Amino acid sequence: MADIIKLLPDHVANQIAAGEVVQRPASVVKELLENAIDAGATLIKLIVKDGGKTLIQVVDNGIGMSETDARLSFERHATSKISCAEDLFALKTKGFRGEALASIAAIAHVDMLTRKPDSELGVHLKIEGSKIISQEMVATSKGTSISVKNLFFNIPARRNFLKSIQVELRHIMDEFHRVALVNPSIEFHFYNNGSEIFNLPQSNSRQRITQVFGSKMKDRLVPVEEQTEVVKVSGFVCKPEFSKKSRGEQFFFANGRFIKSPYLHHAVVAAFEGLLKADHYPGYFLYLDVDPKSIDINIHPTKTEVKFDDEHTLYAVLKSAIKHSLGQFNVAPVLDFER
Ligand code: ADP
Ligand code: MG
Repeated sequence: MADIIKLLPDHVANQIAAGEVVQRPASVVKELLENAIDAGATLIKLIVKDGGKTLIQVVDNGIGMSETDARLSFERHATSKISCAEDLFALKTKGFRGEALASIAAIAHVDMLTRKPDSELGVHLKIEGSKIISQEMVATSKGTSISVKNLFFNIPARRNFLKSIQVELRHIMDEFHRVALVNPSIEFHFYNNGSEIFNLPQSNSRQRITQVFGSKMKDRLVPVEEQTEVVKVSGFVCKPEFSKKSRGEQFFFANGRFIKSPYLHHAVVAAFEGLLKADHYPGYFLYLDVDPKSIDINIHPTKTEVKFDDEHTLYAVLKSAIKHSLGQFNVAPVLDFER
């Protein structure tokens, strides 16, 4: 019998990987925003049309790419962020898998304009379904602009599976909130169908929460601070009287990225013991910083699930830090100092 195993062509492998990385327009938004942050941008614009179904564009003023790098950035496993396995244990960047752009370009029409600050001209690349359609040198502002159009154009099942424009926009807003909240020193602008829906000047984390969720947040936030050998905790919990029946504004960030953790959520709820009405949950914005060696981010392509070495200690530190803050708040209800 003849051998029957063959290596898949790159564009097929990319399309398969895309299934995991890109679930919906919001996944593209997350990947492009994270790339802009990794590029050291101080100003990021997000432009979306029809819930991302028609257009998702991210424009940054970061380090840009050379012509060769621009082409390479669309190859699978092509990254400037790690070069060996050890680097995985000392991650300083949001990205490292080198598969987002390759995945996106496999299932959409992508337009990239990029220029390094020290280059006179930039490069304009057009890619459709992993194929470079055109490439030219052009005058463009420093940094990178990536437009993603006709997402899932070659995967009708996925395209049809997309929810309504409103629902997809909601998911995009969620991703935008997460990125904006953990990067208060970056200025963000978000345009939906031609109108600006967020204009977030550079600020600190307290002000950023109010910029994103409105001035109602001003009187709700109780600061939480704790530093131990294992973790540095900072951020805010919302006063118990503002807790909600539904899941509301609840955010954990670990080493600069949004994470989901039912276990740590439980620690927060436990710290509020006796202060919440039945079935009510507190809002929180909690930033955890741990040694990069003690956190594994590489569990899932979307990187929102992570594994901490010492989860039990984190739980205990978090719970006691919040209890402490809430205790202080009971004694002195007005706690409104700036961070
Ligand atoms: P990763 O972020 O995991 O490295 P990506 O596919 O998202 O993988 O990006 C591939 C590479 O392209 C990055 O490592 C980076 O060098 C480059 N790149 C992507 N987006 C930008 C950007 N906005 N500015 C500068 N370089 C970028
Ligand atoms: Mg990336």
